[in-house]
Amino acid sequence: MQNISTKQALRRALADKRSGRIVFVPTMGALHEGHASLLRQARELAGAEGCVVASIFLNPVQFDNAGDLASYPSTPEADLKLCETCGVDIAFTPDPASMYEGDRSISLEETNLSTALCGATRPGHFAGVCLVVNKLFNLVQPTDAIFGKKDYQQLAILRRMVRDLDIPITLHGAEIVREADGLARSSRNVRLTPEHRAAAPAIRQNLLAAKQAYETGTNADDVRRDLTAALEAIPGVRVDYAELVDAETLHELRTPASPALLAVAAWFGDVRLIDNIELQRA
Ligand code: AMP
Repeated sequence: MQNISTKQALRRALADKRSGRIVFVPTMGALHEGHASLLRQARELAGAEGCVVASIFLNPVQFDNAGDLASYPSTPEADLKLCETCGVDIAFTPDPASMYEGDRSISLEETNLSTALCGATRPGHFAGVCLVVNKLFNLVQPTDAIFGKKDYQQLAILRRMVRDLDIPITLHGAEIVREADGLARSSRNVRLTPEHRAAAPAIRQNLLAAKQAYETGTNADDVRRDLTAALEAIPGVRVDYAELVDAETLHELRTPASPALLAVAAWFGDVRLIDNIELQRA
């Protein structure tokens, strides 16, 4: 595996790899089993002939909260080891100063899907995501890129970006990887207190109960209300949102038969966790 930290060296390393598939997995580091699953899927998709590129870049532009950025975990050595174990060919690890010009003046804003869910409480977050992913796409120029459904809204917005800007890259959504007790794996989980860590799996349990209620006929408003009440009863939690939305538009369900999504964001102390579950009514 090559570890590359400049744009120039990345372009050079990729120059003779363009005959096959180049599969890209962007990350912010502090890698865990969720990331590993994306990297392994990338290796499989690329095949023996193709090339797997992972970026590890804590993108300051997508953080709407300085404290969250400052306390974001960082495990650079373990990250590189995990990449190597998962079959990554190139780890791209730029620093912020080399990624962004001091007087950058272009922004990239998705104006529809970004207004819902996390976009409503994290101003500028998805514009920062679109900007960095677009830059990384231009640097790597992959054939394919893999994103986790844990960040469901991010994946939906990036699909829009690729569609609306005619970016010639195929996006793949990967299933959520969880701890044995159901908590979605997240780099932020290590920052939970033992009490909060013990309480957090209740998010998943309540999402499963709400899914069952919805799929057996309970109406959307009741599901949303009961889920919110159940989440608010978790010790130590502050619910940011609990929404039942159309899985494609991320806005209100168009018809009861549309594929739907239950999405939750909840604070435990100063740690914000997200999770979601897809729903389908027969
Ligand atoms: P991050 O480092 O948090 O920006 O995540 C990098 C990629 O890994 C994103 O596409 C995430 O959706 C994905 N990811 C993070 N956690 C998980 C998880 N538990 N299961 C599946 N994918 C994940």
